[in-house]
Amino acid sequence: MENVLRHIPKTDKLLKAFNGCNGILLKRIITEFLEAYRKSLLEGGAVMEFEKCVERIKEDYFKRTQKSLKPLINATGIVVHTNLGRSVFSNEILEEIKPLLCAYNNLEYEVKKGVRGDRYAHLQNLFAALLGAEDVLVVNNNAAAVFLIFNTFAKNKEVVVSRGELIEIGGSFRIPRVMEDSGAILKEVGTTNKTNLKDYQEAINPDTAMLFKAHKSNYEIVGFSKEVGHRELISLAKERQIIDYYDLGSGYFGIKGLEALAKHEMPLEEIVKLNPSLVSFSGDKLLGGAQAGIIFGKKCYIEKLKQNQLLRMLRVDKFTLAALEATLMAYLQGEYEKIPTCRLLLQSKEELARNAEKLFDLIPKRFEPVIVATKSYSGGGAMPNRALESFGIALSFGSEERLEELLRERGIIGRIESGKVILDVRALLEGDEVRIQEALLEIEEFLNHEESLGGGANYAR
Ligand SMILES: *Cc1c(COP(=O)(O)O)cnc(C)c1O
Repeated sequence: MENVLRHIPKTDKLLKAFNGCNGILLKRIITEFLEAYRKSLLEGGAVMEFEKCVERIKEDYFKRTQKSLKPLINATGIVVHTNLGRSVFSNEILEEIKPLLCAYNNLEYEVKKGVRGDRYAHLQNLFAALLGAEDVLVVNNNAAAVFLIFNTFAKNKEVVVSRGELIEIGGSFRIPRVMEDSGAILKEVGTTNKTNLKDYQEAINPDTAMLFKAHKSNYEIVGFSKEVGHRELISLAKERQIIDYYDLGSGYFGIKGLEALAKHEMPLEEIVKLNPSLVSFSGDKLLGGAQAGIIFGKKCYIEKLKQNQLLRMLRVDKFTLAALEATLMAYLQGEYEKIPTCRLLLQSKEELARNAEKLFDLIPKRFEPVIVATKSYSGGGAMPNRALESFGIALSFGSEERLEELLRERGIIGRIESGKVILDVRALLEGDEVRIQEALLEIEEFLNHEESLGGGANYAR
């Protein structure tokens, strides 16, 4: 027995074989390793050379100290992809905000008076300049905005909602549940497919605080259906002196080139003209900025939101404010190139075709690339069922699932369609083509090697 255990290396000696590692973690890994090794030896397991032990520990250390977040290539054709981090920042925007983030700043300080300032005041001017909205408030995300608004204005009071708009968006955010948690009382009206203005009118009573409308971000009701428009709801709310609130989901500026969007979704400028009480939307969906919930509307209501203690829990960081400010400034100056979400959505068909050709030229012929017309999507809950024309490269391979996985393992996220892996060019960023080429060359080499071993027979043609 003793004989076997003498093969176990000393902790000190193992520790000396490493440098540049976190000492506490390394010790823990070594202890765990030695315990397992001892057990294995006692059960008749093989003896390991010292070097082998070091290698095992190194592998374990490496595995445990990998960063979890990594960059990916979005070849799905969905520009605002919630699973892939939604809107991307450009280098220009990051460079612009860097001096702010790497220094102290006036986040909550009024330089002129030398007194404490208002963190929420920073974006007011820019929003007013861009939209002409009375006032604005920015919170952590749009879900937080919805919660804050219900909690502030409808605690123990009724909120009237159409049964066709009791939405669930991703991440199990369900309007009825959010309302309940916020203390608001849900008053459903209409049916799943049809709601009339009369349904709202009849539901209003002295306990009603608000008429609420939610954007149908991820579904459509077609056929025998009717919903009440935002404009009508605003007039009714005004007439009855209650609040109207529209959870818009994804707000965007109606800039030239986004006509396809504007056909189905009202741009922010148009919504502001309706003079609503409150509207909220996400900062990192079509707007293309940072994760945030942007609330705009009448000053008196925004003031009340600011008085809610909850706001302290939902408040945004300087990074968010700086990134949003830079994004709004780019809108103001018409520099849409600086906002990747805008740039990707504004690409012309010719541009996309050219990019597809460029990518095509880089792809190893083994994958039998073909340029195909594709349907891409804006994502982020706008126009869920309306495609934007795009192009992609279809790749053929014995097993498309295997190829999709091999690409995914190398950080390239495509999709499978009719037995082929499609790499859509719509949401590709600068340099992605070359990275795709490199990955495919590596995959090719890997497959050649596998075939030479006789392994990949199932996948090779
Ligand atoms: C996306 C969305 C939200 C949630 O916004 P987040 O910024 O993700 O918190 C809420 N309501 C609607 C209608 C949405 O589309």
